[in-house]
Amino acid sequence: MDYPISSRAASLAPSLTLAISAKAKELRAAGEDVIGFGAGEPDFDTPQHIKDAAAQALADGFTKYTPSSGIPELRQAVADKFQKDYGVEYEPSQVIVNCGGKHSCFNVIYATCEAGDEVIIPAPYWLSYPEMAKLAGAKPVILETTDATEFKVTPEQLREAITPNTKLFILNSPSNPTGSVYTADEIRALGDVCVEKGVLIMSDDIYEKLIYDGAEFTSVTGFSEDHLAHTIIVHGLAKAYSMTGWRIGFLAAPKPIAQAINALQSHSTSNATSFAQKGAVAALNGPQDHLNDWLAKFDERRRYAAEQLNAMPGISCINSKGAFYLFPNIAETGLKSAEFCERLLEQAKVAAVPGVAFGADNNFRISYATSMENIQTGMARLEEFCKSL
Ligand SMILES: *Cc1c(COP(=O)(O)O)cnc(C)c1O
Repeated sequence: MDYPISSRAASLAPSLTLAISAKAKELRAAGEDVIGFGAGEPDFDTPQHIKDAAAQALADGFTKYTPSSGIPELRQAVADKFQKDYGVEYEPSQVIVNCGGKHSCFNVIYATCEAGDEVIIPAPYWLSYPEMAKLAGAKPVILETTDATEFKVTPEQLREAITPNTKLFILNSPSNPTGSVYTADEIRALGDVCVEKGVLIMSDDIYEKLIYDGAEFTSVTGFSEDHLAHTIIVHGLAKAYSMTGWRIGFLAAPKPIAQAINALQSHSTSNATSFAQKGAVAALNGPQDHLNDWLAKFDERRRYAAEQLNAMPGISCINSKGAFYLFPNIAETGLKSAEFCERLLEQAKVAAVPGVAFGADNNFRISYATSMENIQTGMARLEEFCKSL
């Protein structure tokens, strides 16, 4: 039979980061000793009190549908979080709980964009953003950046890219895949352009808490009522609480947008998993001290890996101050990123994600969300590999 595949679905390529992790797992299952730098998730376990809260919810029979936008106590906890961490006021009705931060992004783009619209996305970008824009029928407009500006777009670049069709500007600081963190001045300047031009900002703050070297997270919502009114925050628990498999994300939006997303979600996924939401309440309202330990470990690995990478022939690497990624430049090796990573996996048994997946073919992504021991072994192999080129 000639199976129908919609042009929407046919236009998508499966997520390359997930594919690399799968390939590394496969090799490992076949007995190969592969060092994985591909992971997009922390290597730590979810803190115990969060697991306990979800287990208790299950034991209590909290296993039925919840309101589609999330249980009231979680929406309140999210509003409290933004009050405490960003200094901005949201009513719980402006908060929607989604099935992961990825789902939050999808809902925002799908509820605000349609055919003929343009979505401005700085590259290197999280690989799902352009695909989500295309699913909504909109056109991704990519703004190129390089190591020279720490992979940050300038307000001039943004201003030039805005047309009457621009609906959304996507901001992701700290960034996946580069780890770059925008300063407060930089965020404000980008926000000013969007306010002046009437463009919505989707601020993906999933790495908010993962910052090093004294860098600080800044939310564009905090600068003025205008900035707040032009912004939708997407966020979640996956990264800072190591809850990737729980599928809990959330967003905070101006009321009309929150209402539209509420309707969209009520006809698609309905609520995020009931007992996972109870765990999420414990995560947001409970102790946060696990982060001190995680941040110290991430930071130690980050410094070590950046130092090692910069000593390798053909490689240069900015010591990015956020998330758990480094994004080394390999232009001097003369290889494009896909060939570099393929050969790295085959010859040196090190898995990393080629930059081409993120719109940057001179770089590759290293995740240091793995043990120091793995990083040491992996860096030694990478160095041998670079010397062999
Ligand atoms: C991990 C990640 C998310 C959200 O992931 P979920 O597992 O869906 O919560 C969102 N944005 C970026 C840039 C990410 O790296």
